[in-house]
Amino acid sequence: MARNKVQFQKGLSEAQFVVLYGTEDQCREAVMRWRWPSGFVCPVCAGKHHSFIKTRALYQCTACRHQTSVIAGTIFASTKVPLCTWFRAMYHLTQGKGGSSRTELGRRLGVTQTTAWKIKHKLMQVMMERDATKRLTGRIEIDDAYLGGERNGGKRGRGSPGKTPIVAAVETTPQGKPIRLKLRRVNGFRHAEIATLAKHNFDPASTVVSDGLRCFTGVSNAGCVHQPIITGSGRKAALNPAFKWVNTTLGNIKSAIAGTYRAVRDKHVPRYLAEFEYRFNRRYDLAAMMPRLGYVAVRTPPMPYRLLKLAGSCVIRKDIDDFVILGSKQRPRAVN
Ligand SMILES: [Zn+2]
Repeated sequence: MARNKVQFQKGLSEAQFVVLYGTEDQCREAVMRWRWPSGFVCPVCAGKHHSFIKTRALYQCTACRHQTSVIAGTIFASTKVPLCTWFRAMYHLTQGKGGSSRTELGRRLGVTQTTAWKIKHKLMQVMMERDATKRLTGRIEIDDAYLGGERNGGKRGRGSPGKTPIVAAVETTPQGKPIRLKLRRVNGFRHAEIATLAKHNFDPASTVVSDGLRCFTGVSNAGCVHQPIITGSGRKAALNPAFKWVNTTLGNIKSAIAGTYRAVRDKHVPRYLAEFEYRFNRRYDLAAMMPRLGYVAVRTPPMPYRLLKLAGSCVIRKDIDDFVILGSKQRPRAVN
């Protein structure tokens, strides 16, 4: 049997990681390279001439005299944690198969659980914002699932309390091999919910294959062709090969989330899904995943802790005016 291309690739070894990003200086230089690939650019006037204030590690623009640090305006903004620690977190998040819980991450990084949580959620926010705008196209398999619920002694099955409804969609080749994945939390399996999801996530020219759950007809509102495949004796009754990949993926997600995180707060589910989705969509180049995450991290606006904790923060900020404001210069008012 052929070796699994994804499973047996090398990735970035811990030894290589230490060689590349072992010291604080190396990490700072990497952030510089990612942020200003062709040298310093003033965030205010785009000027290139600058001086460096060594004592405070600040760059001063010669033209407008604006002072900035290499992490200002990025997801790392105003962190008290060394960049080294952030880099190790990025390493674990991208190279580990099931991510790390905050307890485990805290222990590995040598920081408190709260700090580990903050770092992790900020990086997951980066992943979420990165993949949000890319739409699936061509042949898409779609399926519904619930996360959580069983642990709280709640009844199993649809609609029981504590369960978070999610939709998984996999773009496949015409032969059904998976290409890219989208995982989205929905507010229930309703026509209008699926229509909105399809508008944001699917190319209108796509063909969406489902098991015929009624809400999935909503994809036609987004211009997609809906192709329900109804198996003889009820939904999911047979292991229909048309859903092989979407079912495998969903199974993996559920066990990864259940195995790694004892409980995922409902309001934070989108970020956990984004983490899984991000890794899945880059599974063929494990080693490059870390620098790619770093490159996007320096292009993601800061996310203060109080916003991370809000339910509404698990959204793509540029879609929502408030969050664009909060994410950039204007100081947020007391939100909670
Ligand atoms: Zn300037």
